[in-house]
Amino acid sequence: MGQLWRWVLAVAALLLWGTAALAEPAARDLFGQAREPAAMASASIGFYSRGCLAGGVAMPRDGPTWQTTRPARHRSFGHPAMIDLLERLSAQAAAQDGWPGFLVADIAQPRGGPMTNGHASHQIGLDADVYLTPMPDHRMSDAERDAIDPPSLIDARTLRVDPARWRPEHYRLLRRVALAPEVERIFVHPGIKEKLCAVASGDRGWLAKVRPMYGHDYHFHIRMRCPPGATACESQEPVGRGDGCGDLSWWFDVALQPPPPGAKPPRPKPPLAMSDLPRACRQVLDAPAGAAAAGSGHAPVLSAIPTPTERPSH
Ligand SMILES: [Zn+2]
Repeated sequence: MGQLWRWVLAVAALLLWGTAALAEPAARDLFGQAREPAAMASASIGFYSRGCLAGGVAMPRDGPTWQTTRPARHRSFGHPAMIDLLERLSAQAAAQDGWPGFLVADIAQPRGGPMTNGHASHQIGLDADVYLTPMPDHRMSDAERDAIDPPSLIDARTLRVDPARWRPEHYRLLRRVALAPEVERIFVHPGIKEKLCAVASGDRGWLAKVRPMYGHDYHFHIRMRCPPGATACESQEPVGRGDGCGDLSWWFDVALQPPPPGAKPPRPKPPLAMSDLPRACRQVLDAPAGAAAAGSGHAPVLSAIPTPTERPSH
């Protein structure tokens, strides 16, 4: 009898636990609803794929050397260091690389966090996508910005860069961004990495930061280091010293090949719950809306944020 009751209790506990887990809303739904930044001192909290953004700053819609895109997505927010970096790099590329300006795609949601579609990272305001198509010579309308669909640089048949679409300006732009000390990594399609490896001359150290990745054939992805003194920001392990040009064949021969017929699609990961994010992200979600406080003391400042110790596998 005692044994039976123990089983009954165990099953009841499991059911209760399961229901509680199901009832916990996905963090992406909560952060996806935030329309304005949290009025707090700016801080990137957690890891690129598991965190949030306090005191997010909107990239201005237009600048002399950039235009933001996809306004309906509402993802032009970032850590102020990221907005500053994009403005500076775009000005340098326009002045020196023959690249008229940045077309900025997704940065982060107003309060960062997971998104309902599109990205695993971009959660702490230190990731930004920039199209591999230069800014047009006119200011685009909102409708134009939402409908934008820049072409791929990759020939779908060969999986290599399409020579008709590749320009020397692409090389100069990507090299410039990779050389910026604040930049931690750049993600591009393996075909683009291969092309950069083929044309790079002189010091090739910057190629270590350029990482092959799925997608990223019509845009590239800039990932910044945690800003100095950002104690709640969890760094990624540094890239190695090698240029990463010697080991691309796996991408072309295996990773980018279609799956064999009948292969089981990978099971999607369950969405992140609030309990998967650093605890301070609850404060970010609950904070009043408004402009970032630049350490002025007028807005609540995160206190005693525990340093995140967990590192996602991704
Ligand atoms: Zn991206």
